[in-house]
Amino acid sequence: MKTSIAIQHEVNGPLILEEIDLPAVRPDQAIVRLKAAGLCLSQIHEMRSESFERPRGMGHEAVGIVEEVGGDVTHVKEGDLAILTWVPWTPVKGRKPIEFTGATLDGETVHGSFWGWGEQLLTRAEYLVPVPPDSPIDVSAVIGCGVMTGAGAVKNTARVSAGDSVAVFGVGGVGCSAVMMAAALDASAVIAVDISEDKLDFARTIGATHYVNAAETDPVEAIVEITKGGAAFAFDTVGARQAAEAIVPSVRGGGPGTNNVGGLAVLVGNPEPEITIKPEWFVGHQRRLAGSHGAMEPQTDIDYFLEMHRNGKMPLEKLVTRSYRLADVNQAAADLAAGKILGRAIFDLSD
Ligand SMILES: [Zn+2]
Repeated sequence: MKTSIAIQHEVNGPLILEEIDLPAVRPDQAIVRLKAAGLCLSQIHEMRSESFERPRGMGHEAVGIVEEVGGDVTHVKEGDLAILTWVPWTPVKGRKPIEFTGATLDGETVHGSFWGWGEQLLTRAEYLVPVPPDSPIDVSAVIGCGVMTGAGAVKNTARVSAGDSVAVFGVGGVGCSAVMMAAALDASAVIAVDISEDKLDFARTIGATHYVNAAETDPVEAIVEITKGGAAFAFDTVGARQAAEAIVPSVRGGGPGTNNVGGLAVLVGNPEPEITIKPEWFVGHQRRLAGSHGAMEPQTDIDYFLEMHRNGKMPLEKLVTRSYRLADVNQAAADLAAGKILGRAIFDLSD
């Protein structure tokens, strides 16, 4: 069977819509007719990275109708609406093993465990989570990475409670999801930090209570002032060195004693190779630093986010601000790389 997907042939090269060959499904695989897929900044990193094999399929959050499943697959079936997420159901410790789907292009292996930017997807069924058939397509397309990473870090790693103050560095798709989750959990202050005035304005429409333009103001000083001593939680969704280094002093210091723990800083964005942190931030003040890509359990958390959307607590539809045709994949990638997309963009793959 042949299907058309966006392929990158060389590092920094363009994406080209190619007809690839799909083999018969293995017992652990499924084929999905894709309806929509999100664009994540990780794909820009991927397109620029020497460390990925090519030709390569792109995209790791999507939604579509399951067309066929292998004999061992029991949790999804033909006709189900299913979300693609890069988090497998069975937790993997450390780095994931490289997987091949078996798809080929002119006899050559198509690299990547899955792809969302195409007509059909062949992948291990573990990356698919069935959702109610009336789930909104645009929202479902961005849950598999953007929402689960940003909102998941707030809900699962930080476990933000009502009344906690939260700072979010970087309000792109992941950061906006974190803002929305913190607002839904009734954080006392949700401080958006970015260098784009447009993105900061947008963050205010989805739940940010304060905003700091880090190009003009020292974000650490601003956060300490707004929260009168430091936020309970700070998240870096950017990955740039300055943001990663700013989150620890942005959280409040504690002191000695069991009930005097400092704030928690959480690294979420694709990190730089090295950052500098000062031991004095930690020991006397009991501040903590953690890493998170959402700490998700796909089978329960995806339902949770859809339910939070259904009951109006997370207006996830506002996150999706733009829709592209797959034929415009290079324009879409260029817009994403240039920081022109507010919230999250999707590909409409419905025909
Ligand atoms: Zn992603």
